[in-house]
Amino acid sequence: MNWGNQRDILVFVEQKSGQPVNAGLEGLTSAHALAEVSGGRVLALLAGADNSAGIKRAASCGADVILSVQGASFQNGCGDAFFYALEQMAGKYHPGAVVAANTPLGQELTARFSARHGLGNVQDAVALRIQDGTPVWTVPAYGGTILTNVVPNAVPFAATVRSGAFQKAVTTAKKPFIVEEMVSVPDSALHTKVLESVREIAEEINLEDAKVIVAGGRGMGNKENFALVEELAKVLGGVVGATRPAIESGWVSRAHQVGQSGKTVAPALYIGCGISGAIQHVSSIMNSGYIVAVNKDEDAPIFDIANIGIVGDVMQILPVMIEEIKKRKAG
Ligand SMILES: Cc1cc2nc3c(=O)[nH]c(=O)nc-3n(C[C@H](O)[C@H](O)[C@H](O)COP(=O)(O)OP(=O)(O)OC[C@H]3O[C@@H](n4cnc5c(N)ncnc54)[C@H](O)[C@@H]3O)c2cc1C
Repeated sequence: MNWGNQRDILVFVEQKSGQPVNAGLEGLTSAHALAEVSGGRVLALLAGADNSAGIKRAASCGADVILSVQGASFQNGCGDAFFYALEQMAGKYHPGAVVAANTPLGQELTARFSARHGLGNVQDAVALRIQDGTPVWTVPAYGGTILTNVVPNAVPFAATVRSGAFQKAVTTAKKPFIVEEMVSVPDSALHTKVLESVREIAEEINLEDAKVIVAGGRGMGNKENFALVEELAKVLGGVVGATRPAIESGWVSRAHQVGQSGKTVAPALYIGCGISGAIQHVSSIMNSGYIVAVNKDEDAPIFDIANIGIVGDVMQILPVMIEEIKKRKAG
């Protein structure tokens, strides 16, 4: 891939309530991989009413340069204002790629940017590898029923990354340059107006940041049995995850769903109980540090990716695990 003189990678680090969203910071990880082949820098763009918290977090996630655009125009979440700032910064720094979180705002900005400049656009990437100097992105296709690899055919291009699919970049001692950019958004750039923002009242389950996840699948049998998954998660200080069938059976709320249509996770320890290992589930747990699977079928596909596989009935194995952990904690 010929990067020409467009070697920098520009990451739009989205913020919510003055804090960067995880996938925005995780975009810096894929940007690092791209910058290694392009030979350029990772530029983190923060646009907000007050970027102070965002600058600190982006600095600790390894940005080479932080472009801070501050102003009241970014207060109410109007996509037009952010797009204007992105356009200005891209016009000034000529990046080889623009990366954002795969949120509604990230999708809007990258899609508009690609459409306006006629660029390739990778949406909802769950992985990135570099092959012979070319970035190969893995993205879901056909409503998430398959994963496929796509390659941008020219520089520059734009991409969004799925929350949790890329770990946050490792902190380096290197301090980034912080550049205060003056961007004043003209009224003519604002085509829409945000009249009101409402916060959805939903159960807050932080699967993305959990260190331990105990997930249950259809093999748990019923809601009463599923309580064993909850108990194991509790004794380990972890969070409960679930497959789609377990959610559709009403054993646990949708906020717990792990998988292509749920959350992508990267805990240090993932324990899957009565889960077969369908691609729509396991593609979202591949960044886990250690995977333990309990399944009565020794040929279950989840054993192909598990570090430890326990062949047996969840109703016998889980109570033993819970008792043993309780004993060790007490002793
Ligand atoms: C577009 C699309 C999006 C999807 N998104 C998601 C998603 O986000 N998340 C998701 O999870 N799925 C998703 N799915 C569904 C996915 O394809 C699988 O159907 C699902 O992951 C299977 O869930 P499961 O492993 O719980 O059930 P099953 O595949 O039925 O597996 C149950 C397993 O439990 C084992 N078992 C049964 N009884 C016991 C026992 N007593 N002890 C031990 N083991 C036992 C069985 O051997 C079996 O392996 C999606 C599908 C599509 C088409």
